Amino acid sequence: MTGPCPARTGGTIFAIKRYAIHDGPNLRTCVFLKGCPLRCVWCHNPEGMDHPAVMVTMPERCVGCGACIAACPGNALRMTASGPARDHAACSLCTTCEQVCPALAHEATGNEQSVEQVLEAIEKDRPFYDCSEGGVTFSGGEPLAQPGFLLELLRACGRRGIHRAVDTSAFAETSLLLHIAKETDLFLIDIKHMDDATHRRFTGVSNKRILTNITTLAEYGHPLRLRLPLIPGINDDDANLRATGAFIAALSERTPDATPGTRSVDVLPYHSAAKAKYAKLGKAYPGSDIPPSDPQRVRHAVDILRQFGLTVHTGG
Ligand code: SF4
Ligand code: SF4
Repeated sequence: MTGPCPARTGGTIFAIKRYAIHDGPNLRTCVFLKGCPLRCVWCHNPEGMDHPAVMVTMPERCVGCGACIAACPGNALRMTASGPARDHAACSLCTTCEQVCPALAHEATGNEQSVEQVLEAIEKDRPFYDCSEGGVTFSGGEPLAQPGFLLELLRACGRRGIHRAVDTSAFAETSLLLHIAKETDLFLIDIKHMDDATHRRFTGVSNKRILTNITTLAEYGHPLRLRLPLIPGINDDDANLRATGAFIAALSERTPDATPGTRSVDVLPYHSAAKAKYAKLGKAYPGSDIPPSDPQRVRHAVDILRQFGLTVHTGG
């Protein structure tokens, strides 16, 4: 495979966040694409995991007016003791229920948008990019899960002179990643665990392809920003921190001089703010036992990583 499938005219996104300051350098617009092959137990964007969008209902908001049930053109809703229930097979995602509900109890987890629609949203923030040297970040989910759509968006932003970052797991075919790299100014990539078996256990996939892809991008001299989501009890032990530090430090030995990102890492402390999102989706939160990051433990991780000569930032 040498590149993505022939271009599509659109794709599925679940959010566009403006004025983002933790998703790449300076002020950015972050476009979240749906679909992800990983299942990280601490995932803070569960609405981005599955590719097809679905409607969700927050029954605790319902005041029982019945407007959504009367308005649904597909008769997909019925009232139950705990609020409206949806037959997803009959739901066409028309969003009528979302529009008529006075209590904001219905919500789509994503929608189809054309490249032009996304560009229109991106262009609105151009004054902020221009004054802050920011740009656009494509995130998810996993943006490489919709490669044709992503590539079209990247090309269009490139033609407009907008800085383009791609926030990816790097769990993709190397040929695809290198193809996307031609239209990407910066990759943001998480290193989740250095041990393959532990990586599989907590993310659902092997880390081999991810580490190979990071190394390949570094060897090509492609700008990277590597990040370590610090998850208590999963990857914050000294052995993993040392292995992570050694891996990143070794990258700089294999890269052209001054390749940005190969001697630095962002440590991202864990918080459990995603819990409410899982509840909204009617899913159990697999990370419910993970405690928030202890600031002392975060400082300890930073100290270990600095022993490898790395520049370490905390936060986004
Ligand atoms: S999105 Fe449309 S079809 Fe689906 S439940 Fe709501 S009103 Fe009915
Ligand atoms: S329109 Fe909203 S408040 Fe009324 S029944 Fe439907 S979910 Fe409940």
